[in-house]
Amino acid sequence: EYKEIATPSRTKEILKKHGFSFKKSLGQNFLTEPNILRKIVETAGIDTHTNVVEVGPGIGALTEQLAKNAAQVLAFEIDDRLIPVLEETMSPYQNVTVVHNDVLKADLVGTTKEVFKEERPIKVVANLPYYITTPIMMHFLESDLDVQEMIVMMQKEVADRISAKPGTKAYGSLSIAVQYFMEASIAFIVPKTVFIPQPNVDSAIIKLTKRDKPAVEVTNEKEFFKLTKASFQLRRKTLWNNLIHYYGKDDETKAWLTQSLSEAEIDPSRRGETLSLEEFGRLSNTLEKNR
Ligand code: SAM
Repeated sequence: EYKEIATPSRTKEILKKHGFSFKKSLGQNFLTEPNILRKIVETAGIDTHTNVVEVGPGIGALTEQLAKNAAQVLAFEIDDRLIPVLEETMSPYQNVTVVHNDVLKADLVGTTKEVFKEERPIKVVANLPYYITTPIMMHFLESDLDVQEMIVMMQKEVADRISAKPGTKAYGSLSIAVQYFMEASIAFIVPKTVFIPQPNVDSAIIKLTKRDKPAVEVTNEKEFFKLTKASFQLRRKTLWNNLIHYYGKDDETKAWLTQSLSEAEIDPSRRGETLSLEEFGRLSNTLEKNR
């Protein structure tokens, strides 16, 4: 009788056979609940027309479910000790390619071109290593890889920040960096009890869907992201304080900021966390025009 990798008994068997010990420094918390994995695959809408990129397959719990549904799966795993384990656990699945590499150092466009036999919509599905959730998200968003959807598990607290709306406590430059490119929503919460070892916090599955075009039209993307980061540097200070802290306190800079804020019709005494993407876009474009 075949037991899925994610069942607690099979997971323990695999770990024991290979003498595997978890490395906290690599964010290794393995999922041991097949129902949650199925729910992830369902949420992601994976079918035989989809190619999937996975980050951190571990012993292959999620990879197996993806392989059963997707056209092809490409998985990046950093831990060399897991490569022989995956070779064994993934042997029934011809459509899985494991690449032994740090995903942050991987050439995503090149590797996907090499591995995927046919050009199909690409989805990123992963139970992310929590210590580098944000860098991984940014690595995908900033790459030229055309990712249609990302369905990823992360700490609930980070998922809250990514999907936050203006005016809420969780809203910040990360919300904007992601929501500029993708529509973000939390699909469901995952309790910490379904992992071994158990993490300290609950997790959430976040679903990001690529927008046809960015959420706002900006004339200079780099400067737009600099502005949004600058606006949240000093959390309890006004937008004005944040802007002069970042751009400079000299008269010329202050005049440029005052003029641009006024033209963009944004009150400098507001706080960064109250500005919508649209307002940040308007302010950024006005600043660029008046530079
Ligand atoms: N997918 C498995 C599961 O759901 O049970 C394991 C998820 S575990 C939270 C994170 C995985 O990411 C681990 O296998 C870890 O070794 C791997 N990992 C950590 N840092 C990585 C990196 N920079 N690049 C690729 N994989 C990484």
